[in-house]
Amino acid sequence: MNLVYLIIMKTKFDLNTLVRPTIKALMPYSSARDEFQGNTGAMVFLDANENPFENGVNRYPDPKQRKLKSVLSEIKGVSAEHMLLGNGSDEVLDLIFRAFCEPNQDNIITLPPTYGMYGVLANINAVGIKKVQLSNDFQPEVDRILEAQDSNSKLLFICSPNNPTANSFDADKIEKLIRQFKGIVVIDEAYIDFSSEASWVNRLKEFPNLIVTQTLSKAYGMAGIRLGICYASKDIISILNNIKPPYNVNALTQQRAIERLNIKGLADKEIKTILEERSFLISELSGINFISKIYPSDANFILAKVDDATKRYNQLIEKGVVIRNRTTQTGCENCLRFTVGTSNENLKLISTLKSI
Ligand SMILES: *Cc1c(COP(=O)(O)O)cnc(C)c1O
Repeated sequence: MNLVYLIIMKTKFDLNTLVRPTIKALMPYSSARDEFQGNTGAMVFLDANENPFENGVNRYPDPKQRKLKSVLSEIKGVSAEHMLLGNGSDEVLDLIFRAFCEPNQDNIITLPPTYGMYGVLANINAVGIKKVQLSNDFQPEVDRILEAQDSNSKLLFICSPNNPTANSFDADKIEKLIRQFKGIVVIDEAYIDFSSEASWVNRLKEFPNLIVTQTLSKAYGMAGIRLGICYASKDIISILNNIKPPYNVNALTQQRAIERLNIKGLADKEIKTILEERSFLISELSGINFISKIYPSDANFILAKVDDATKRYNQLIEKGVVIRNRTTQTGCENCLRFTVGTSNENLKLISTLKSI
């Protein structure tokens, strides 16, 4: 049955029917510089009206970020043509909206409680939102999600590990959604490096309707330089490349990312420390008398239920500890979200919680 099924699946997916007509008709903007990357040494560049005096940043950055992609490609095991880089995941997500969602017509599906940016971007782009609440144990309700889709449902956002709930979704549930959702499935893997689950980038070739996003903002310690990564089929990547601003990743970001990513073992070492600190925090939090539940975490933060989230949040602020109050999100009533910090920061958090 599998082969027949696969053939049916494959022939059914047609990217062209999902891309907005205006986007399909676009020719990519090409900067003159784009064609001459690589043999810069011998050439004289009088094409872009730059100031010619070298100071390290007087030239426009590489619009295709070739060097940085080759470093990422080594680390992630995905070739550069399956990658698009953006000014943070937020830009990448916005490009995905603009490629696939017709304003005032199309809709997306989100699975709350989850990352707020999907809804914000939908609102900015005048795209409808269908919300299908996660189950009590914060897993996707596959059948309800598939029932919620209509012919204008272009994107399904799956955040795994999920923010703010901290858990990963069951891989078989995600796979079923990728196979059966008729639009594009976007898996946001901002926290994948803290997770015990495998990344879906390894399975891109199987699923032409899959987009995976990652970021250097969390595990890689570079939130300040803004670099988001999108992995997808060559066809999807080329559409996104056509609509991205040509110089969306600045020269300093590209340079700094390459430098840090090239320090062997650095990210792994920091991730290991953060995971040890996460275990420490979980055991300490369980001894706090007003914390009634600590949810399993596959990320660098912990969600916990308390007696009165707003009261505890304010008490912590007064003592100089800032965390996130998630109580207004349906499903997260009286929940606080704690980011795992340094050993000292975590000790300060615990001693403050004990004192209130
Ligand atoms: C933090 C976070 C991101 C990262 O966004 P950037 O714009 O890359 O900093 C993306 N998705 C989720 C769910 C996040 O929590």
